[in-house]
Amino acid sequence: MGKVYIVGAGPGDSELISVRGKRLVENCDVLIYDRLVSEDITALAGKDCEKIYVGKENGKHSVTQEDINNILVDKAKHGNTVVRLKGGDPFVFGRGGEEILALIKNNIDFETIPGITSAIAVPELAGIPVTQRGVSQDVHIVTGHTAEGEITDYKALANTKGTLVFLMSANTIAHIAERLTEYGMSPETPAAVIEKGTTADEKIIRTVLGNLKNEDIAPPAVIVVGKTAEYDLISPVGRISVAITGTEDFRERLKSLLYKKDYRVREVCCLETVPLDTEFEIREYDWLVFTGRNGVRIFMDKLRRDNTDIRRLKNKIAVIGRGTYDALAEYGIYADYMPDIYTSEELGKGLCNIAENESKLIFRAENGSEEIYKHIKNYKEVKLYTTRIRHISQCQEDIIVFGSSMGVNTYLDKYDINENTKIIAIGEATHKTLKDRGYEAHCCRKAAVESIVEAIEENEKIQTT
Ligand code: SAH
Repeated sequence: MGKVYIVGAGPGDSELISVRGKRLVENCDVLIYDRLVSEDITALAGKDCEKIYVGKENGKHSVTQEDINNILVDKAKHGNTVVRLKGGDPFVFGRGGEEILALIKNNIDFETIPGITSAIAVPELAGIPVTQRGVSQDVHIVTGHTAEGEITDYKALANTKGTLVFLMSANTIAHIAERLTEYGMSPETPAAVIEKGTTADEKIIRTVLGNLKNEDIAPPAVIVVGKTAEYDLISPVGRISVAITGTEDFRERLKSLLYKKDYRVREVCCLETVPLDTEFEIREYDWLVFTGRNGVRIFMDKLRRDNTDIRRLKNKIAVIGRGTYDALAEYGIYADYMPDIYTSEELGKGLCNIAENESKLIFRAENGSEEIYKHIKNYKEVKLYTTRIRHISQCQEDIIVFGSSMGVNTYLDKYDINENTKIIAIGEATHKTLKDRGYEAHCCRKAAVESIVEAIEENEKIQTT
């Protein structure tokens, strides 16, 4: 028998899920999620996880609550670890309670993991505190969309001195505002509407109760009414947001450097490496040539799978740059040759100079750069892996970073880049691919993640070339 975890995903931003919630999403067998859960969070699920969307599709019928309950029970009965992921907190207008009652009825083990509710966090991140000493002593979270028609006590709400927070009210707010004024609340009471809070598309409208109109508001929105709605407790210096594209190893290394400096990071184009079935005899070659870190990792995995003792590696080794050198060094292997400029063309040129007649085995990606072959002689190539798209979404960030030409082509085949977004290319080949596709980008001095971070830090000084 499996177990169901009812997990709150937070208000949107993928950094605002709990540590435990994130860990459960990463490790579950089945992920059942709603419309308000961001793609960046569902993308955390493992490769083999079954993802089931149960939210409302525009115009189409949504899956009924009864259907959702049945899916939860059925998946758990088949022995799965199930994560039922909900926007915000599962118990704040999230129907988490109903699902749990169905689980209890069917004797299914469950646990609830709280989330950061949009009712408090969305106003907060827009600079609005829901309570403020001496100004607002209480807060009421209200739905504008109830199951049994109008059951909300508007008379009591109209008489509160505290803060009113309305969820699910984008289509009913004018009516609500009317009822509140009927019961004596001043139409001049400050009001704020925050649409798509915590996301790159966030929109904040500051107004007063009497001016709240349905047609001005697009869901999902949180509407705050009360004195604190006119607060604007936001730092004038915003965080710079960075969108990253590339394979997992690249994204992880860049992400951890950017997080240390507190940038806002989002992975907009995630590529994954898939090892290919290859056979080669390393003893026949003087040189082994690595054109990237992924190649090193996949090569080492293959040695391990084939039970090859690392002491059999008697060859000389060439690498494209510092990242690849360091990746090999982690296995205790120090490359014999690395060009001064980290491009495959330079690697080919350098090898031609120092070892023209020696035999070389080149490890590369099936869809990788071919520049290395411009100069190199006396070689054989092995396609160690191929690259596939795992997840892609549109960049709305201040900066977008490309870690490979493959990333550029994959991203641009699907989306354009907004003209306000600065573009950074890891190296010359990637820079050239961007240029060929009509985009001006900054090219890093050294093709290394550290160099990308330097370029971002000098953001204001970036000269597009
Ligand atoms: N359980 C959720 C609320 C579910 S009801 C929570 O605790 O946040 C859905 C409503 O939440 C939406 O209609 C909207 O009012 C609000 N909401 C959720 N995410 C939001 C966001 N990112 N921006 C604005 N409103 C949001």
